[in-house]
Amino acid sequence: MDLVLRAERMVTPGGETPGYVAVRGGTIAAVGPLAEAPAAERVVELGPGEVLLPGMVDTHVHVNDPGRSEWEGFATATRAAAAGGVTTIVDMPLNSLPPTVDVPSLEVKRKAADGRVHVDVGFWGGAVPGNTAALRPLHDAGVFGFKCFLLHSGVDEFPPLETAELERDLRTLAGFGGLMIVHAEDADTIGHAPPARGTGYPGFLRSRPAEAEHVAIARVLELARRTGARVHILHLASAGALPMLADARRDGVAVTVETCPHYLTFTAEEIGAGATQFKCCPPIRDAANREGLWRGLADGVIDCVVSDHSPCTPELKRLGTGDFGEAWGGISGLQVGLPAVWTQARQRGFGLPDVVRWMAQAPAAQAGLRTKGRIAPGQDADFCVFAPDEAFVVDAAALRHRNPVSAYHGRPLAGVVRSTWLRGREVTGDRPHGRLLRRE
Ligand SMILES: [Zn+2]
Repeated sequence: MDLVLRAERMVTPGGETPGYVAVRGGTIAAVGPLAEAPAAERVVELGPGEVLLPGMVDTHVHVNDPGRSEWEGFATATRAAAAGGVTTIVDMPLNSLPPTVDVPSLEVKRKAADGRVHVDVGFWGGAVPGNTAALRPLHDAGVFGFKCFLLHSGVDEFPPLETAELERDLRTLAGFGGLMIVHAEDADTIGHAPPARGTGYPGFLRSRPAEAEHVAIARVLELARRTGARVHILHLASAGALPMLADARRDGVAVTVETCPHYLTFTAEEIGAGATQFKCCPPIRDAANREGLWRGLADGVIDCVVSDHSPCTPELKRLGTGDFGEAWGGISGLQVGLPAVWTQARQRGFGLPDVVRWMAQAPAAQAGLRTKGRIAPGQDADFCVFAPDEAFVVDAAALRHRNPVSAYHGRPLAGVVRSTWLRGREVTGDRPHGRLLRRE
């Protein structure tokens, strides 16, 4: 064996247990009780208070590179990921230029990432008006699925699908087992809401009502039912949609659901005037809604918790004027997602195996990353050594993503990432040894 990690606590698909993990050639060769640990070239003994977790899998990251690399880039995003215990990210098809809507643009993105990534990186494709014929070639080129919007995406080069276009693309995807991942807010509902302007958070919240999510999700579920396509609801923010999602799943609709650490952490009540670092779409809603999302996780209606890391420059966040209408919508949470979720989860009686299921195992399964997200023989030897009882205060300037803006700045969080391992090697942030992943 190349490496054996010994831990008084580790989280496997069977739960939390003491044990060892043996690694050969970057792959987990064996897992078992401490007394049976084999010899290895290198043995790492976890310290007291440390828990061995699988590396987290974050399937919702906007790297923005190439094209808007002043917002974020492959080197900075993947260093932030590694510092946060995340060993695999899947990059969103928009905010980079060109957007990933055909095979040539996927190749441009792969070229931008090649040799610069500190964790493994996969790619989502995009479904936009007019690119139906590009979906199958992108699927064959290895994207994990396709993202679409049902309203303006925030950037003009990635337009939304009309209902008829969505239905046609879902039929196309159903033909080859493709997956559609949807930003589910309805344009018409938001068009009829009062527009966001000024520094008050309540005004912004009124501009993106929960009904916009409900209307859009109902439409996606109906079309998934009609076409038989697999769909995934991105960044669910309104707990009001959970009953219809549970019903659809009971009826056999192939739907999965994610939410994000910021919806599980923050509440509208605590967001002050001009605090645009909290602006994201759909928005952070009230405290009762946050508890509803936690019930959705407990009930298993929400499968995954992923960051929706979507940074920009401080100028575009309009931190100077604090205008919620003009600020870019997006929260930079890649590096702090695990401690943020753990902080809230343990207060509600959940354990680390729950967090691992939401943030590693389920996202890997949802995207079809077969060798990620679990400590088990045959899996990639990707680990996060986590100290769950330690605490720290988030300092935006110390985070490793490109621009020092964070909704978590100043926030005390439980759980410190001590080290991150990718295919049996510790990630230091010096020499990038991440790989570019293709759907198998
Ligand atoms: Zn996003």
